[in-house]
Amino acid sequence: MKLILENKISQDQRDKLEAALEGDGCITREITDAGRNIICITGARVKKGADAYKQLEGVEDAVAISTSHKLVSREFKTEDTRVKIGNVVVGGDRIVVVAGPCAVESRDQAMAIAKEVKKYGAVLFRGGAYKPRSSPYSFQGLEEEGLKILAEVREKTGLGVVTEITSPAQAELMERYVDVVQIGARNMQNFELLKCVGKMSKPVVLKRGLASTIQEWLMSAEYIAAGGNTNVILCERGIRTFEPYTRNTLDLSAIPVLKQLTHLPIIIDPSHATGIREKVAPMARAAVAAGADALMIEVHNNPDQALSDGPQSLYPVQFGDLTRDLYVIAPVVGKQMDFDYLKKSEVIAKLGAGTAKTAAFTGENGAYSHKASLSYFGDDVTSVPMKSFRDIFNAVENGSVEYGVIPVENSLSGSIHENFDLLQEYDLKIIGEVAIRIKHALITHPGTDPGAIKRILAPATAFSQCRNYLEQYPDAELVPVKATASAVRLAKEAGDASAAAIGSSMAADIFDMDVAAESIEDNPRNYTRFAIIAKEYKGRKKVAKTSIIFSTGNKPGALFEVMKVFSQYRINLVKLESRPVLGKPWEYMFYADLEADILKEELAPMMEELKGKSEILRILGRY
Ligand code: PEP
Ligand code: MN
Repeated sequence: MKLILENKISQDQRDKLEAALEGDGCITREITDAGRNIICITGARVKKGADAYKQLEGVEDAVAISTSHKLVSREFKTEDTRVKIGNVVVGGDRIVVVAGPCAVESRDQAMAIAKEVKKYGAVLFRGGAYKPRSSPYSFQGLEEEGLKILAEVREKTGLGVVTEITSPAQAELMERYVDVVQIGARNMQNFELLKCVGKMSKPVVLKRGLASTIQEWLMSAEYIAAGGNTNVILCERGIRTFEPYTRNTLDLSAIPVLKQLTHLPIIIDPSHATGIREKVAPMARAAVAAGADALMIEVHNNPDQALSDGPQSLYPVQFGDLTRDLYVIAPVVGKQMDFDYLKKSEVIAKLGAGTAKTAAFTGENGAYSHKASLSYFGDDVTSVPMKSFRDIFNAVENGSVEYGVIPVENSLSGSIHENFDLLQEYDLKIIGEVAIRIKHALITHPGTDPGAIKRILAPATAFSQCRNYLEQYPDAELVPVKATASAVRLAKEAGDASAAAIGSSMAADIFDMDVAAESIEDNPRNYTRFAIIAKEYKGRKKVAKTSIIFSTGNKPGALFEVMKVFSQYRINLVKLESRPVLGKPWEYMFYADLEADILKEELAPMMEELKGKSEILRILGRY
């Protein structure tokens, strides 16, 4: 049963309510969901129906939860749960990649693999110290010694560590040494172990049993949540079927099924699912495409000699190829593979008290720029809306916000020139970039029949991008507004079902509206690239790209001379754009994005040549 509390519930009413629920012998959990305070009451002794609870003071409504799983159900909590592990969040816009060997075999082995997987984008390290093996004669793990090695890996690399707990007797050691405990497939219904981790302070990766239904799996998650630990990540690792070509059968359809049934995040383990090295990457890519929040991949630097699961372990380089592919795939489903995840979080965490941990974007909540900010920063910073691009530049310059998120280019409509001019005008730095897919949705009032739509609100660009789809609504009035998020808000405020809007599904969520149709843009290759601006670089990370502006003398071949320098040093130019010099008609500056860190020592001679051949040369950012 889910009790929705009145917004104005007094402390006195709250105390009485709690006493009444306790008297009934209920297990209670309170959460905020979609801005409401909600109590879930469960337990063997909950016998009364919704009507009885509705009568209680301070309770606005009581709704029965129809599924057997309660606390972990989507009916109880509509918003996705985000499980925080240090600076890493499982369940947000950024794909979390967990990697490492099946078992910790030695200090050197664990450390070497950890460094490799970190280099390629893993943000958590896995390794078994207690191995549940089918044969008592197989390697059983280094036990406490293994846990100590994991703790050392964390200390040296900054990667949080995940390991399997096989008995309640290990709980104390696990609390001391690791960041996440894993319940292995063979223990999914070890109820004493579930109760034990339910009382632990660490997040839990709960693997699906070898032959368990999704329902049984959710009930095991419910055990953990009922114990008080709601930081549960569900891990699909393949189930046993009649098919012998793979070790198990990866049930990818569990992803959309779970997304509907539960608010818990999902991690996919393609290594145990397939058991075969070559099959791991294809299934990992498919998992991200299907909406997985995280991946757990076995990687070994010497798989032939591995003490367990060598044949399914990727070589580090193969793991690197995979994360590069994920980088490309993730934006298609509205997510990011963020190679700077840890560095970024570390820098933000280190910002002193009193520093604004905020990022400004233009428009209002639900705007694509808002989505870009969340994709880049996750929950580490607060995203704040601003009216104009110039407001953002001013706010970053005067320090009232730490970062700005500004669109610079759209794959269909080209550059956003205003921002190039502002980059020229202000002395700020580009510290990063993020590209998001612009996926438009037709957004209506809940339950609206499409025939009832008389007006559609959207900015002119969105109308032109959805021309084919809109042919279905020849009689609807197309009302131009400034931006997609304001279109959704205005449609909502219009209060009648005849008003619809075009915007992101995130805006629909924010304004409590329905997505009547998704991906209605004519061309799905619609991406916008955003630059992240700040007053200065903080911390140092690997630089893959440099943005510069330069001007050349007004003489024949001047631009060619500059280009020749890049060519000589084999530097790839990924963007070149000319803009008028502010206040100097008919004089031009060039913006260039280069695939190199041009301040690297070996490029010093190139910089010299470049300076000689350009009149002005400014580095806008290295990221
Ligand atoms: C493991 O992760 O190494 C493991 C033993 O997995 P599973 O429990 O899925 O077999
Ligand atoms: Mn394994």
